Amino acid sequence: MAHRRLSLFGATGSVGQSTLDLVRRAGADWQLSVLTANSDVAELARLAREFRPDIAVIADEARHGELRDALADTGIAVAAGADALVEAAARPADLVMAAIVGCAGLAPTMAALEAGHDVALANKEALVSAGDLMTAAARKSGAMILPVDSEHNAIFQCLAGGRIDQVRRIILTASGGPFRTMAAADMARVTPAQAVAHPTWSMGAKISVDSATMMNKGLELIEAHHLFPVGLDRIEILVHPQSVIHSLVEYIDCSTLAQLGSPDMRIPIASALAWPQRMATPCTPLDLASIARLDFEVPDEARFPATALCRAAIAEGGARPAQLNAANEVAVAAFLAGRISFTAIVDTVRRVIDADAPAAPASLQDIFSVDAASRAAAQSFVDQYEHA
Ligand code: NAD
Ligand code: MG
Repeated sequence: MAHRRLSLFGATGSVGQSTLDLVRRAGADWQLSVLTANSDVAELARLAREFRPDIAVIADEARHGELRDALADTGIAVAAGADALVEAAARPADLVMAAIVGCAGLAPTMAALEAGHDVALANKEALVSAGDLMTAAARKSGAMILPVDSEHNAIFQCLAGGRIDQVRRIILTASGGPFRTMAAADMARVTPAQAVAHPTWSMGAKISVDSATMMNKGLELIEAHHLFPVGLDRIEILVHPQSVIHSLVEYIDCSTLAQLGSPDMRIPIASALAWPQRMATPCTPLDLASIARLDFEVPDEARFPATALCRAAIAEGGARPAQLNAANEVAVAAFLAGRISFTAIVDTVRRVIDADAPAAPASLQDIFSVDAASRAAAQSFVDQYEHA
């Protein structure tokens, strides 16, 4: 394979590190075009020295000088700030890995799609907030969106076995998170440390908390709706605690295809990096005999109301998913900072949704306005909890 140019947004994160682990092993197959991080200059500089991108971008503008000094002798260009991220996303690349967490990744991901770059998409919050705009931008420029989220990557792989108009059902599997069997009454007291200790996956803090509330599965339902337009009522959620089957596609003939693998993000990342080829990974192959059994449960929406909130938000459409996502980002950050209880996360999201019905967004700018208003509303509910 001739070398391909990769731009990696969110290089210092969990998905970013897994991506670079594969790139490191693939050696000369890849040339880095862009590496970015939010604020960790030392780690970004270290990665830039190892992977030699054309440019390293730090989102935190105040760190520009620090990054320039750290890479002064390397010939690697440096830039800082939100606009620099957007400019970097349009630079020449064969593939852009969107691995920033949160709606902060939306503007660069859109810029990559508008430039016609294929995007390996981990950044689900961008698609949740602006799915219609993103899929329209991809259609217009001819860019592909290659799903990295393990469930969506599984569905993408299963769809190679048929046509989307022959799909009867998509079944999104969910581990159920660390509190799958916990009584509702005990959930108000769980700590951030308990919530980020995911039973099967090792991930960044935000998505780990989302997995614990099952908001992650709700966001993934919205994500699936945009990526695989089979109709919302054809997308179901199934709890599968072992995280071995990453999702399933049932066709009209009642033949069901599933994708299986060890719970290691390097497997779906490798699938997106190499598509339509395959690349070797160092991951542990499945040993089904030692796993011995796979379990399945219907999700309990009484204890985990987030998935129903998400289903209602995408059914309504318009600005609802962006509003929901922004409120959730604020609530998760408040929970991680010890400011609100675990159960207050989803309550905050619900209160924000109940308090205001923003008009349907027509542009990216409208999405950012909805996002900002929802953050402010969520912040005021968080303050009320804190002072209650
Ligand atoms: P993480 O917190 O480990 O890393 C986030 C990355 O984004 C870091 O490089 C950070 O520097 C950067 N970043 C954070 N805030 C930023 C901002 N305001 N501006 C610019 N850059 C910023 O997160 P992660 O677990 O790697 O997840 C990344 C994305 O991938 C999320 O959308 C998540 O839902 C999705 N995802 C992750 C996994 C996983 O296993 N970690 C699995 C599926 C999907
Ligand atoms: Mg997932």
